[in-house]
Amino acid sequence: LGNKITGALRSMANNTFVDEAVLDNCLKDIATALLQADINIKLVKQLRDNVKRAVQIEDMASGLNKRKVIEKAVFSELCSMLDPDTEPYELKKGRSNVVMFVGLQGNGKTTTCTKYAYANKRKGYRPAMICADTFRAGAFDQLKQNCTKAGIPFYGSYTETDPAAIAAAGVQRFREERYDLIIVDTSGRHKQEDALFEEMREIEEAVKPDCIVFVIDGSVGQAAYDQALAFKQTVPVGAVIVTKLDGHAKGGGALSAVAATDSPIIYIGTGEHIDEFEQFHTKSFVSRLLGLGDWTGFMDKITDVIPEDQQPELLEKLQGGVFTMRILYEQYANIMKMGPMGQIMSMIPGFGQDLIPKGAEQASQERMKHFMTMMDSMTDQELDAQDIKIFQEDGRLERIAQGSGRSMQEVAVLISEHKRMGQLWGKMKGLKMPGKGGGMSS
Ligand code: GDP
Ligand code: MG
Repeated sequence: LGNKITGALRSMANNTFVDEAVLDNCLKDIATALLQADINIKLVKQLRDNVKRAVQIEDMASGLNKRKVIEKAVFSELCSMLDPDTEPYELKKGRSNVVMFVGLQGNGKTTTCTKYAYANKRKGYRPAMICADTFRAGAFDQLKQNCTKAGIPFYGSYTETDPAAIAAAGVQRFREERYDLIIVDTSGRHKQEDALFEEMREIEEAVKPDCIVFVIDGSVGQAAYDQALAFKQTVPVGAVIVTKLDGHAKGGGALSAVAATDSPIIYIGTGEHIDEFEQFHTKSFVSRLLGLGDWTGFMDKITDVIPEDQQPELLEKLQGGVFTMRILYEQYANIMKMGPMGQIMSMIPGFGQDLIPKGAEQASQERMKHFMTMMDSMTDQELDAQDIKIFQEDGRLERIAQGSGRSMQEVAVLISEHKRMGQLWGKMKGLKMPGKGGGMSS
């Protein structure tokens, strides 16, 4: 999607004379790209009209960067589409928050319930989970297994067949035991839709949730809008979680789901593992959708793995001063801690394609380890050098190569890699901490 939009913008920028027709053409290409990313057709049409209204032909003529003007308009239109103006439910300490999960079978509810419980457990809540899915064979076992792994108490039944009764009993028990986050997982049978919706209403009636989270598979595509709408019309959905945004999901369905439910996305799922769960940031998501790269998501990951008291120091380093070998070393060390490479790297502008070709995550992890070994053989002077020219001095490369058991050629590659990273790093200057508003990077 990003490439197509960039292409459309570039071809327009090449036109020295921009008039209505040229702009229309460009918007047509962008609309096609958005449709291919599975954004709902009605939304695309609306977006096209809005962008056109926002972009002033006169501005275009007056030497402003045309590409930037349109890019910005598309970006902010997509952002406002994802921003329903309603705040998500905030968990409250000191009372039992009941959160109910709904969505079609296979979309990732049970997995997501566990991730959600676990993420909040790490924030200091005491979560507990209830299996109100009596439709799918093995549903209770799956939830039990998830909960056991994550150390989360659970409730369910092998004999009771009424999901509303189980949900009510579970909530009552966990309220009495003073759990402050009670999560109700429901069934999401594919067929018999009327029965599913009836069941959902009964459970809602039985537990009176503080929030209903609609879970949708990010690869659902054009069907997302109608699916989301059907749920919203049955129960008061208050938040959305989009799953499976790892794989090749185009993500456009997610935008459509937000528009249909008028509810904010609170998290996204990026893998099957309990850790593969991220807080949602509109601007990051749109940046990624447009292929602009995503600094905010990257910063989130960094702030996740770096102890809080060290964060100001890191930011200071990022925002001022010289990108030394030592900073590169620390970044590699952090990245190694962060888990699946592909995930992280795809968030960094410029990295996605060039640094890590698809399927080469393993190899690049190896490469990074080698780089770190070489840096282990550097002196403090080399690690903290303000000018990379130091490595041109006699004997240094050779010494590093020998000390680390790598070739001189590899050391040279490391040094050019450092230069490239330094240039990328330069782009991060002026970046703010997540939550205080990131921004588009381009
Ligand atoms: P439910 O029927 O809605 O409860 O869905 P499940 O939680 O059972 O998930 C269905 C399948 O999707 C399982 O194989 C999960 O491991 C997988 N899954 C869930 N979330 C994600 C995700 O974010 N990424 C990937 N790759 N798989 C996921
Ligand atoms: Mg399930």
